Formats: sequence, C-alpha cells, structure tokens
Amino acid sequence: MTDIRIGIWRDQPDLGFLNEVLAIPGGEAAAACIQCGTCSGACPTVRDMDSSPREIVAFVRAGYRDRVLNSNTIWMCASCYACYAQCPKEIKITDFMYKLKQIAMREGYKNPGARRARVLARKFADTVRKFGRNSETRLLLKYFFATGIFSALKYTGMALSLLVTGRLDVFPKKIKGSGEVRAILKRIDEGAAMRR
Ligand code: SF4
Ligand code: SF4
Repeated sequence: MTDIRIGIWRDQPDLGFLNEVLAIPGGEAAAACIQCGTCSGACPTVRDMDSSPREIVAFVRAGYRDRVLNSNTIWMCASCYACYAQCPKEIKITDFMYKLKQIAMREGYKNPGARRARVLARKFADTVRKFGRNSETRLLLKYFFATGIFSALKYTGMALSLLVTGRLDVFPKKIKGSGEVRAILKRIDEGAAMRR
C-alpha cells in the first residue's frame, strides 16, 4: 500500500495498523485529507475528545497505533456522520472510528471511556430488545447503576425539567412487533459471533 504518512511525530509509525485501518471500504480516501478541520468543526462531541477527528485522521495516516487506540475520541464518537457529510474529500471518518473501536477492543486497550461506551451500548441493546425501541429513562437508569449512580446526581436538575415537560417516558411501553426486533438483534448477534 502507498505510504501516505504525513508530518513528523515522536511516535513510531506502525504500518500494519495503518494498512488495516485504511483497508476498510473507501479507507484509501484518507490519503486525500487536506487537514482542513471541517470534520472537527462539525463534530458535536469534539469538546469531550482528547484528539479531534481531524487529528485522528492525521494520526491514522501517520500509523500511530498507540496514540489513536489510547485516545478517548473513538469512544466519544456518537456515529452521527456529520463529519463525513461535510468533509470536502468525502472521507468516511465515522467508519474509521468503528474500525478503531474494533481494534482497540480486540487488542485490550483500556480507556475509561471505552468501558462506559461499552456499558451504554449493552444497556441500549438490552432496552431495544425488551421494548422494541429505546427508552431514555430506562437506559440512563441502567447505565448509571452500572457505572456509578452518584455521577447521575449532577443531572438531577435536567432530569426534573425533562420530567415536568413530559420528555421522559417513565413507564415505557413495548412497540407492536417488538418480537421481530428481538429476532433481528438475535440474527445480528449470531452473525457477529460467527465472524469472531
Ligand atoms: S474534513 Fe475531511 S479533509 Fe478536512 S480534515 Fe477532516 S477528514 Fe481531512
Ligand atoms: S461521526 Fe463521530 S467523529 Fe464524526 S462528527 Fe459525529 S461524533 Fe464526531
């Protein structure tokens, strides 16, 4: 694969890592990144990331395995696709983030954000499995019980105002066809297990 490394950094480049990440469908487009920062400007969670999406693209191109996989950025990504939608070079940054999460999990990188993101994803899937859709109240209760209920206290004011305005579904109801949703999720789980 063409060496598209840019910049001079202290980390040692890992070309195996670079090639694995760029091998995702459309991944080679990262070579065209002009470091304009539009992706970072569009990202709704960039303030909580330790490296911006623009930096992650640069670090991937530089083959900086540890810097990327230790970063909380890949776990803060909300998969909203705003970066991809606005990138002038149509680089699939969201897909890179998915790939990076897979590698980080496979290789046991321990970022505190990773554990919380995994708990949130698992509780979200459990909620959809049960009701056929998400229930924010149930999801957040389960999430905070699993990760530390005291950290929920700072959101009490917001929760109360959402409750008063009827924006929290305290007693979620199952949708029609929730069994079909469960069957779809079961098929996804089976497919994922076969790929491992
Ligand atoms: S918006 Fe696209 S071209 Fe600009 S820095 Fe981000 S990935 Fe690179
Ligand atoms: S997909 Fe992820 S990285 Fe891209 S804008 Fe959304 S949250 Fe940010």
